[in-house]
Order: sequence, then C-alpha cells, then structure tokens
Amino acid sequence: MKFKRVVIKVGSALVAPDAKGCSGKYILAIARFISQCQQAGKEVILVSSGSVAAGRSLIAHGSPNPSIPTKQAMAAVGQMKMMANWQRFFDLPCSQLLITHGDLKDRQRYINIKNTLRILLANGVIPIVNENDTVATEELKVGDNDNLAALVALVSEADSLFILSDVDGVFEADPRLNPQAKLIPVIAKIDQSVYAMAGATNNPIATGGMKTKIQAAEKAVENGIDTYILNGSRGEVFEQILRGDNPGTHFVAQHGATRARKHWLKHTLKSNGMVLVDTGALSALTKQGASLLPSGVTKVSGDFKAGDCLDIYDAKSGQQIAKGISQYNARDLQRIKGYKSDEIAALLGCCPSQVVVHRDDMVVLIAQ
Ligand code: GLU
Repeated sequence: MKFKRVVIKVGSALVAPDAKGCSGKYILAIARFISQCQQAGKEVILVSSGSVAAGRSLIAHGSPNPSIPTKQAMAAVGQMKMMANWQRFFDLPCSQLLITHGDLKDRQRYINIKNTLRILLANGVIPIVNENDTVATEELKVGDNDNLAALVALVSEADSLFILSDVDGVFEADPRLNPQAKLIPVIAKIDQSVYAMAGATNNPIATGGMKTKIQAAEKAVENGIDTYILNGSRGEVFEQILRGDNPGTHFVAQHGATRARKHWLKHTLKSNGMVLVDTGALSALTKQGASLLPSGVTKVSGDFKAGDCLDIYDAKSGQQIAKGISQYNARDLQRIKGYKSDEIAALLGCCPSQVVVHRDDMVVLIAQ
C-alpha cells in the first residue's frame, strides 16, 4: 500500500478499552506508527473517538444508555482526557479540531477547516479531529466517527483513509460464528453484497460497527480515496503497513484523488463569479503551478461568497484559463484586487487568506 496524506480514524475501543477510561494500551503503538509516518515524509490527520467513553465515569448516569445531554457532558469532560492521553505519546505537537456535519456543509466553514488543516500539516502539527458533541443536535450530527473521517479525508484531500478498530477487516462470513471464514483483502466495488457479507444492512435505522465503516469507505472511494479497515489492536499491523503490505481490507479508490477532484471542479461545480488576471498571474498559474494572488487580479464581477467557484480569465486575450474556489467574497475581493498579499490586513482589517484561489483548489483549463 502506498500513501502520502492519510486520515487515520481510531475507534473508542482502542482509545478507552475495557470500559476503564483512556489508556495507552493500544494508542502507544498507533502514536509510534504516526510518528514513523511523519518521519517518512507522510502527512497524518487523526480522527479520534473516545470522548464519551473517557468521560463516562465522571458524569453520574445510572443507566447503561444515558440521555443525549448526559453523553454530551461525558464527551465534554472526556475530550480533555482523550487529548491529554494522545499528547502523552507524541513528541510532535497535537491540535484539536471539533467539527459537525453542519460545519462541513457550510461553504465558508468548509474552507476555514480546510485552510486550518493545510497550515497545521505544513507546520508538522498533528490535527486530531472529533465531532463537536456539545453542539451537535441530530440535524448537525455526522453521528459516527467513521463517516466523519470520510468527510475529513475529503476536506483534507487525503489520498488514503485508515479505519482502525479491533477487527481485522471484512470477512466472507462472521468470524465469530465461523472461525474458518476468510478475510477479504481487496474489495474493488462496494454494493449490497458487501454490506450483507459484513453482516450489516445499509438500513439507515440500523446502527453499528461494520455498517458505518463500509458507508465511510463508500463515500471515500467514490472521491478517489483508498480506504482500509485495519486492526489497530495488533502492533504487527503497523509494521506490515510500513513495509507496504495490506494487513486488512482494502477498498479500492475509483479514481486518483486529484483526478476526481479536478474533474468535479471542472465539470460539476457551477461558477458564481469571474475575475480577469494580468500577464504575470497568467504565467504564474499556467507555467509555475502557483496560486492566484490578489496582486494579479485586475477585474472582479459577479456576486459570490467565499467558498464559491470562480472563472479565471486572461485580461489580455479574454480566454478562460482556469476555474477555482475563492477564498474571498466578491466585495472583499473588489477591495484587495491589485494589492500585495501583505497589504490585505490593512485593507480589510484582517487577512483571511494570502491567496485568492489556492493552487489545490484550482483546475487550469489551457495547455500548460
Ligand atoms: N464523538 C464520539 C466520541 O468521541 C464518537 C462517535 C463514534 O465513535 O463514532 O465518543
């Protein structure tokens, strides 16, 4: 297996095993693996569950199935314990990102999350993401961290997603009932037979283990992200991954991540505005693979918000050269166009971004 930027989802069973709150039993090996990945030049984003489990003993509940506000309180107190437990095993700095489904659906918040992740990774800091359980009501909730991890893989443009739990992967039959059942190393296409094999229905009312993992895999592979279900309780699994082997079940990505994303940008995303750029920006975009800076923008039209798509035209020839996602709304871009990035703060009172369109959020439409 090959990967460069990976989202690793760690389940509660690994963070807080044996119903005793947080422990290092499994996460020591996971933290060591993440550090080894970083040393090998890979980028890792962690999605960690376990806040509810970690806070359980500190909030009175008296029922095996506590109410939602009780669980939210457990998550609030447990989140601190969980983060402290992760940081204990890393020499690298860790950071905490608490997000909801509502945040990921909002364009402006989506690019805020994306920008934060980009800067954390560029600085060698490990982002640790969990659902913001305090504010997440049913409509705002992702609900399970498997699906949240798939969304984080999308927003961070990861090429791979590792879902770590205490199972080895998907088996041909339930290994608890049939010890002879074989592990399936590769799944090229996810359909109902895969859900059935995993003993999970794709029924939205059903909850539980393998179903949400396969749903997450389905979301990720459709977007060009290779997904693996792996047993994070077995240390040798990490050695196998570092050797390039696949010790679990691999769901094969449908396209290269970049290809799928660029295809989406080019063909699916509707533009809400237009900018003209000067010859310096034309050459930077088409020859140097650079981001679009405000200094290169000569004209702005349309009524767009930050996070909307823009058509980028060469002012001289009138030819469209690129399409991309704007970091600015139309009004702010009108004010900063033609200025240097370090003048943005003085013009707007703050600097939301040094660039107008980041290179990773752009597709160039003419031959380069
Ligand atoms: N956000 C929940 C927690 O940290 C976990 C949800 C899940 O495990 O899927 O406990």
